[in-house]
Amino acid sequence: MRVVNQERRDSLLVPSLQLLELTALDQVSGAVFCIIFPLIELLEGRVVVVKILGMTFCELESWLVNELHQKPFRAKQLFTWLHFRRVSSFDDMTDLSLKFRNTLKSAAEITLPGQVNKAESGDGTVKYLLQLPGGPAESVLIPDPPRFTACLSTQYGCRMGCRFCMTGLAGFHGDMTVDEIVAQLYTMSGNSDRRISNVVLMGMGEPMDNWDAVQHALEIISDDRGICIGQRKITVSTVGTPGGIRKLVDMEKQYGLAVSLHSAVQETREMIIPVAKAISLPRLKHDMLEYTGTTGRRATLEYCLIEGINDSLDEAKALADFAKGLPCKINLLVYNQVPGLEWKPPTEETVHRFTEYLYPRCQAVTLRRSRGGEVAGACGQLGASVLNRTKENGTRQNRAPSRKPSITD
Ligand code: SF4
Repeated sequence: MRVVNQERRDSLLVPSLQLLELTALDQVSGAVFCIIFPLIELLEGRVVVVKILGMTFCELESWLVNELHQKPFRAKQLFTWLHFRRVSSFDDMTDLSLKFRNTLKSAAEITLPGQVNKAESGDGTVKYLLQLPGGPAESVLIPDPPRFTACLSTQYGCRMGCRFCMTGLAGFHGDMTVDEIVAQLYTMSGNSDRRISNVVLMGMGEPMDNWDAVQHALEIISDDRGICIGQRKITVSTVGTPGGIRKLVDMEKQYGLAVSLHSAVQETREMIIPVAKAISLPRLKHDMLEYTGTTGRRATLEYCLIEGINDSLDEAKALADFAKGLPCKINLLVYNQVPGLEWKPPTEETVHRFTEYLYPRCQAVTLRRSRGGEVAGACGQLGASVLNRTKENGTRQNRAPSRKPSITD
């Protein structure tokens, strides 16, 4: 049974209760305390309610055995209720004894969005605006038969500041916790009559910048005792932060990798993606080769065509050179205009010329149809809710980051 380390353990606590120290609670009589507060455990001087949806199977088992003094088989029962049947209340876990359910109600909470709003585009794409504990989050369901893909966010806003992206424009408001990432998927799943087959971490935020939470969320959603999205059906999308791809390689799993390249000319790329200044294109390619070599999988290069920025034949040549020798497919996407930004999509003719140059030279090139543009749910268009939050609060960072920002090697 894996032992949960302190840092990870802290991240599973309900934040409002983390500040309640034992000394303060000493002043309350034990009996009154037990009745008034929905808390049962004192853990190293703290009162604890855990965010149970954010626990991997091993963490859940460890917590049940060590903290609640239950038998290990309870973990399978509970994990199934939470992640396979996806109930939202301990009361619905009918094969658990009433006593155990009451214990759970006092010791843990199941994260649920406070409010769920959705908007559907003519192409069937549904954009969700979820009010999560850390703030508003945007997630998207994309029907692309035979796939039915959920696009999840990993941060409230983003600190990468990509120039074509509304989330980048909105700034950074904090990392999502594991349960908040998982809750997006379960809420969309519960609101849809089709089974979600694929997951992409391409919503708000840079997954590698919130890696600890992301890797635990991946472990939960790919667990075959739960919602069981296969590792090969999950794609982590990154702008390629220094050292970021290595984190995925080190997991030794089969998760897909998509790199938002957007230009294979260093200068252009740095203009589009400021963090590209911290990583050279040869280094990025080296990291991608490490991924493809270790996993035996092709990577995806995401390339958003922007008029006059990265749509020239010279850029197409640079892209073909970058892709040479790299097991990859290239996803071309026509830029979705973002209100407040000057950049525009190229003409049909330019897109055609760019793709025609690549087709015979690269292993696989697709021109992806943009989905969800009518509801601002397309690539680069998420983040309106965060932008509103920035305007309302006049601040760019509301939730304390879980650790120091780091985008350097
Ligand atoms: S494109 Fe991705 S990494 Fe860049 S600002 Fe937008 S959300 Fe962040």
